Amino acid sequence: MRALVKTAIGQGNLELRDVPIPQVDAGEVLIRVRACGICGSDLKIQDDWHPYTPPVVIGHEFAGEIVEVGLNVSGWVMGDRVVSEQHVKACGQCRQCLTGHAFACSAKRAPGYFTDGAFTEFIKVPAWLLHRIPSNLSFVEAAFAEPSAVAAHGVLDRTGIFPEDVVLILGCGPIGLVSAKMAQSAGASKVIITGVDHNEKARLPKARELGIDYVVNVMQSDLTALVNDLTHGEGADVVIELSGALPAIDQSFQLARRLGRVGIIGQPPADEIKIPYRQAMFRALTVSFSYSSKYTSWERALSLFERGAVKPSQFITHVLPLQEWSRGFDLSRSGEAVKVVLEP
Ligand SMILES: [Zn+2]
Ligand SMILES: [Zn+2]
Repeated sequence: MRALVKTAIGQGNLELRDVPIPQVDAGEVLIRVRACGICGSDLKIQDDWHPYTPPVVIGHEFAGEIVEVGLNVSGWVMGDRVVSEQHVKACGQCRQCLTGHAFACSAKRAPGYFTDGAFTEFIKVPAWLLHRIPSNLSFVEAAFAEPSAVAAHGVLDRTGIFPEDVVLILGCGPIGLVSAKMAQSAGASKVIITGVDHNEKARLPKARELGIDYVVNVMQSDLTALVNDLTHGEGADVVIELSGALPAIDQSFQLARRLGRVGIIGQPPADEIKIPYRQAMFRALTVSFSYSSKYTSWERALSLFERGAVKPSQFITHVLPLQEWSRGFDLSRSGEAVKVVLEP
């Protein structure tokens, strides 16, 4: 089968190659991949700024149908339409696994980074990671479940949104945009989302189209003044940092109110960065770092999709055949696309 493979450590080193169809073991299913989204982390693997073990088939935002069921799998049959959590090889026995946080298991090897992923025709995963695709969603729409689960994890599971919160989302990539819709759905009174000039090509206009309450290009208008104006100088109840940009990381602490909550999901460009530590301390901020997702995050994302509170089709701007992966990567990188989905 044709697969998009990161062939070796270093910049680039991505190519379509023929690889064998995976053999399912006990407890696993084989999935015919119908759609797989391009993630910012795929671009980072291309740039060699994200951990991975080559050679590896990349792609992790996938949806498909079961074509083979391994021994000792119950509850799933051929033809079931599914999406999957990412905790391949999680041990099931450590404290993290036993408390429902398999994403943080040290034995986990996420597909598309450390085991073969889904920019290809078939992928195998342990059956316990599967979630059923609601019948009113297409495969392309369902491929948006993974980034939405990451958003649900960071915003709803770990940081939490309470009714009437003022929520500031820093960054307007697909996860930022869906986080903003989730905050609205969770009862926030005002949701502010930010971007820069580069995002005027697609992502800030998309935020306006989605009906986010305040859409701010921080290079053109004064974000601090707006937050102060909306909160009588108190600051936002919740700030979610998704840009990974150093000035925004600093602002996420500055613009949260006393006793406010800061959720950090964006990846910074360096291992160590400066933050206003004392200020965060003496304003008693609660800071939650977050990555990946857990069972409840997937349930929440799929429920929001099923009842139309979040419409994945609004975030997917391009659907391309797998052969055109390079154009898809370019569209994602240039900011002309919100979410690009590839069909193998
Ligand atoms: Zn992703
Ligand atoms: Zn474990």
